[in-house]
Amino acid sequence: MNISIVIPLFNEDESLPELFAWIERVMKENNFSYEVIAINDGSKDNSWKVIKAAAEKNPNIKGISFQRNYGKSAALQVGFQAAQGDVVITMDADLQDSPDEIPELYKMITVDGYHLVSGWKKKRYDPITKTIPTKLFNFATRKVSGINNLHDFNCGLKAYQKEVVKSIEVYGEMHRYIPVIAKWAGFDKITEKPVAHQERKYGVTKFGLERFVNGFLDLMSITFVGRYGKRPMHLFGTLGVLSFFFGILILIYLTITKTIFGVVGMTNRPIFYLGILTIIVGTQLFVAGFLGELIARNGADRNQYNIGEKVNL
Ligand code: UDP
Ligand code: MG
Repeated sequence: MNISIVIPLFNEDESLPELFAWIERVMKENNFSYEVIAINDGSKDNSWKVIKAAAEKNPNIKGISFQRNYGKSAALQVGFQAAQGDVVITMDADLQDSPDEIPELYKMITVDGYHLVSGWKKKRYDPITKTIPTKLFNFATRKVSGINNLHDFNCGLKAYQKEVVKSIEVYGEMHRYIPVIAKWAGFDKITEKPVAHQERKYGVTKFGLERFVNGFLDLMSITFVGRYGKRPMHLFGTLGVLSFFFGILILIYLTITKTIFGVVGMTNRPIFYLGILTIIVGTQLFVAGFLGELIARNGADRNQYNIGEKVNL
């Protein structure tokens, strides 16, 4: 099968018929063998009914329905597990992304050999309260992840080589960082393609302003897990040891001034408290690193690595 189109959706019954028809048209025009995997993320409206009706008419349309709303990341993850196509395309259900982009995205994966192609909403049709924080978010993500060639990390329209989606795990609200997760998993041929973007035609956005707070927290955890997830001691231990010795140095200095130079009133000096504080904090950090290390060592995935290829095995 050429293409799997994974569509997470939450209360989008108005958009779905149009979206399915549009995808079907594009797939037929290009003679792609395909499947559409629509993941109903606990919608309260008629989305699931619409999916079932569409699936009856077109066997390429498949559906999975969550019992409740788990979030876009969960929906994507389940869709990724089910996908069978050589190229996996994700898109939003709200008609903001255009299925006409699919053939070109497909070509960039299969012919140009990219692992991941992310859509770039070069000209956006979103309110300004969203576009400005989004610019900041993308800037921070570029700096932290080292993926300097993406303008728009969180575009719903993306294309992946099948191996990528089968090797990564998207949970929580990590869908904003799939390119970062993919890079950590070793899929670093990542690029972007400017895509058409439209105003939401039906319904309302499913994410409020809290997305920016959560987004930055997620960025911190993802960097930490990616860099130090398998070796927490290297981060906490280093910080802890540095802090500890800094404190020891201060106390040695104070001891010398008192014993050799006879300076009195040591406990009245601010630096005395700094010395004690850094020793305590240093010890705590060290212990945190040690505990992290113990947990990492007991984790079921401690010896799981993404193997690219094998020979004679
Ligand atoms: N979505 C979902 N589960 C959720 C929230 C959103 O599956 O809990 C889907 C939603 O139906 C849409 C896509 O994720 O297909 C993107 O959501 P939305 O268009 O509201 O986000 P925005 O375009 O405002 O960033
Ligand atoms: Mg949208």
